[in-house]
Amino acid sequence: MTRRRQIYEGSAKVLFEGPEPGTIVLYFKDDAVSRNPKRSGTITGKGVINNRISEFVMSRLGEVAIPTHFMRRLNMREQLVRKAEIIPIQVVVRNLVAGSLAERFGMEEGEPLSRSIVEFYYKDEKREDPMVMEEHITAFGWANHHEIDEMINLALRANDFMSGLFLGIGIRLVDFRLEFGRVWEGEQLRIIIADEISPDNCRLWDATTNEKLDIDRFRRDLGDVEDAYQEVARRLGILPESGPSDIQGPHLVQ
Ligand code: UDP
Repeated sequence: MTRRRQIYEGSAKVLFEGPEPGTIVLYFKDDAVSRNPKRSGTITGKGVINNRISEFVMSRLGEVAIPTHFMRRLNMREQLVRKAEIIPIQVVVRNLVAGSLAERFGMEEGEPLSRSIVEFYYKDEKREDPMVMEEHITAFGWANHHEIDEMINLALRANDFMSGLFLGIGIRLVDFRLEFGRVWEGEQLRIIIADEISPDNCRLWDATTNEKLDIDRFRRDLGDVEDAYQEVARRLGILPESGPSDIQGPHLVQ
């Protein structure tokens, strides 16, 4: 068997060179980290579920002509994606006040926003991804004005679509974080959604009870983390068929 070349290992995923040029294999791990408060651990079965959820959401986005890097799921924990030049900006879209927004302005979590807010953060682990403005992004050459407009446009379209998708299964999309990449299509450089879309980077609250069904259960030590991820997958109708060992008896190990 030929060994694949590992390109990168992050907190939640490992990237391998794909089988064809211009492709990458994403391997979804069970590892979870939280910056504030500092915490790391394992959420059993998270990688399997996030692989499925991200496949599902990105496929639906593709169907409404919102371009993503997703090509196809390969197995329980891996998917094949288009290789893209990642733009070092995290784009956050918010519909309700939560998390760092609530902290920054001393607001109550759950307050609806009169319009969706789009924020940018520069990807720099050492500096805890500082918030930046369009001025910083263009002055430092991270992306140009056209690319920023395209990221905002795609993020807002994804927000509209995903808000409806989740509301249909009784879940409020409170906020989420996207990453984007550049790919060449013929002579044209195109911006596409990259990375993953899952409860690791979306705040998902039960629409009736406001129960958190996302990574905040881990970050805030609320318990039942695995159940929350499974609940999202179950409501989306994509809970993995019970594989041999991959998703049994989920429990949090810290
Ligand atoms: N988020 C993320 N990665 C990050 C920071 C934020 O996926 O490094 C997501 C987070 O899960 C939430 C949204 O982006 O859905 C907004 O996060 P926020 O700025 O409120 O920061 P947090 O309170 O999550 O640290």
